[in-house]
Amino acid sequence: MNRIARGSLLGIEHMEAAEIVGLLKLARRMNPFKPRPLLRGKRVLLLFYEASTRTRSSFEIAAKSMGAMTTLVLSSGSSIEKGESLLDTAYTLRAVGADLIVVRHPNAGAPLLMAKHLDIPVVNAGDGMHEHPTQALLDAYTISRHKKSFKGLQVVIVGDIYHSRVARSAIHLLSKFGARITLCGPPEFLPELATSLAPGLHITRSVEEAARKADVIIVLRVQKERLAGMKIKLQDYIARYQMTMTRLKLAKRDALLMHPGPIIRGLELTWEVADCPQSVIVEEVRNGVPVRMAILAKALGRAR
Ligand code: ASP
Repeated sequence: MNRIARGSLLGIEHMEAAEIVGLLKLARRMNPFKPRPLLRGKRVLLLFYEASTRTRSSFEIAAKSMGAMTTLVLSSGSSIEKGESLLDTAYTLRAVGADLIVVRHPNAGAPLLMAKHLDIPVVNAGDGMHEHPTQALLDAYTISRHKKSFKGLQVVIVGDIYHSRVARSAIHLLSKFGARITLCGPPEFLPELATSLAPGLHITRSVEEAARKADVIIVLRVQKERLAGMKIKLQDYIARYQMTMTRLKLAKRDALLMHPGPIIRGLELTWEVADCPQSVIVEEVRNGVPVRMAILAKALGRAR
């Protein structure tokens, strides 16, 4: 088996808790408005085969603010459209001088494949329905700004868990630190099998039951691009699972309302919920920058 390129960040599942704590501490020292030139002279390639707003822009700002040069390669408008394979694209980017590649890909395992064939770090910016480790890290960072400890924290994840790499990474991360996780959604979006992701996961079909006493509620987007063949009716979903103020009020008074974005107002949450005082959705986006600064600095051996 090929070795995985040193410094790569491919998923949360196999990360040590100490490594996660180290990254979160490093992120606290990162100030995007007073950055240190830790990555001067480095070239960061952003390779995106799927749409992205937050992840892409925050990686770019994180890299640039530390003095790195960045280049964006999208699947449309590049040789990927002509049929170039993932590995050939990766070798090309290495040949033009990439020191690190951030990749988002519709297939689970694409970043791992690249990391096995390259000698530079690969950072997973979301691979299919597998993992989105940098989102989990920025969510953990956001939670840690509001809550004393993850241990015993009642975290509820509502919605399209089946298709969600965000849910998978969050479950792996929060369960390593003793959070009590409840997953909530209709059977199509939440098969019983989901409990095998981590020990002690609780499943409920009732959003009211899930919300009761929650410290953190993470609402997920319905991933329409991955729904092919599913019979779920959006109207039914909205009636039973949409996060409304009435449902949110069942949670603890200081509960955090989170969402990885993009939010679809009127579908998985109401307008009012998106903008309510408990919502930290914009803060999650903002925290993406220092967290990704820490991830890049660490991956390139420049963490100080
Ligand atoms: N932005 C997140 C992701 O890329 C969540 C989403 O798209 O719904 O996985």
